[in-house]
Amino acid sequence: MTNEAIPPPVPALFPPREQRERVDDYLTRALADATARIKAGPVMPDIDMARFREALGAFDFRDPKPLEPLLEWVIDCMQHGTVHMTHPRYFGLFNPAPTFPSECADRIAGCFNPQLASSGSSPVPVAIEAHVIRSIARRAGLPEGVGGHFTTSGSEANYTALVCALTRANPRFAAEGVRAFSGPPVMYTSKECQPAWHKIAHQAGIGRQSLRLVDTDGTGRMDAAKLSAMVQDDLRNGAVPVLISPTAGTTGAGMVDPLEACAQIAQEHGIWCHVDAAWGGAALCSERLRGELAGIEHADSITIDAHKWFATTMGCGMFIARDPSVLNEAFGVGADFMPSTASSIDPYLNTVQWSRRFMGLRLFLSLATAGWAGYAGHVERAVEVVARIKIRLLTLGWASVNDSNLAVLCLLPPAGSAPVREIVRRLLASGRAWAAVATVEGQPVIRICATHGEISLHDVEELVEALNSQRRP
Ligand SMILES: *Cc1c(COP(=O)(O)O)cnc(C)c1O
Repeated sequence: MTNEAIPPPVPALFPPREQRERVDDYLTRALADATARIKAGPVMPDIDMARFREALGAFDFRDPKPLEPLLEWVIDCMQHGTVHMTHPRYFGLFNPAPTFPSECADRIAGCFNPQLASSGSSPVPVAIEAHVIRSIARRAGLPEGVGGHFTTSGSEANYTALVCALTRANPRFAAEGVRAFSGPPVMYTSKECQPAWHKIAHQAGIGRQSLRLVDTDGTGRMDAAKLSAMVQDDLRNGAVPVLISPTAGTTGAGMVDPLEACAQIAQEHGIWCHVDAAWGGAALCSERLRGELAGIEHADSITIDAHKWFATTMGCGMFIARDPSVLNEAFGVGADFMPSTASSIDPYLNTVQWSRRFMGLRLFLSLATAGWAGYAGHVERAVEVVARIKIRLLTLGWASVNDSNLAVLCLLPPAGSAPVREIVRRLLASGRAWAAVATVEGQPVIRICATHGEISLHDVEELVEALNSQRRP
């Protein structure tokens, strides 16, 4: 057999080095230009979707097209076809403008494309991820010996928590599933929880009815006395409580459930305690703010999303476990074909995923270059921005309805204004800023979160002025 018998590589997929460099250089500049244009334009998409669908439909993938005009087309469509998380007046749903180091990390991960399933294939990436996880865990106050891993999302991390809790609650769960339990396994979070918990209960096989939504105390925090009563009720009725998951930084109002009390109730009954700090976890970086999360150190496990307040590119969740040996009990398998089978470190033996991307590099590079102090500056700045917005709007007669010390503000307009939903509809139509409608303690509110790391006083004024001018009845 000679080399001539092998067809040449497909150049459109694997172009020569000179072409790659030229396109890379073009992309670098084109993306910087797009970022600048986005900041100067509307936050909302302004694309004609009917025309876009027509253009998209024209791709029948029969005739190959040159890459550079395609890239140009995609960037243009992205500029006009998404709500812009990278716009400093996106006061939105925890979705950040990404840190620059995390964008660099994505480029490196894309280039090497390491397979993070096994430490045999990727000894360095696996060690980097494990180091970052341990560092974050120690920052949360967990003892030596903690472990965990990066996940695609906070939802995956929360799902992992439930599977770990079930696995530890009954040694026969692994083989028999929920049939192993003497009664229905149940879990607890508050009614202000992130709604993915409903499908997590479904996916894990305990069923949506097994998700107990504990009442809040009127301020958006879980009522610990009600949690305790609910657990006792369930025990009396033959159910099996397996997991209590307080939220540290609720999606609606940025509130922190009583972490100490939840951990104590969990400990009394031998229930797994998982803190969902998907967004709020970044406050651990700040000496000034970390006290808000006091009690997180008692958790059996924690979710923190790097792609929320740590502002890495998406999706970059973290699951942290006090005793990581549970992960191998839950996710271990035999696989002779894999390059290594180190059950304590190989991600494919300890996580939901098998093939995996080098996600942790995003947080490693961001944290290494900014340090804890840099991240403290980032989260404290967000809190300061929200404080400024609050002061300005209270002066104009608006009311704040959440008492969060984190960077979420829930607002009601002065009496006689248009309904909250109408004000937000008008705000978005104006394209001047983005804010959400949320429901807190049963009441619709305007929700503002400082997610962009470069919000200026001018952006604050624009938001305040845009909101206030849209409140006419
Ligand atoms: C965002 C969020 C989640 C879900 O995380 P994803 O990364 O979006 O899957 C869960 N809980 C809380 C508190 C969140 O803020």
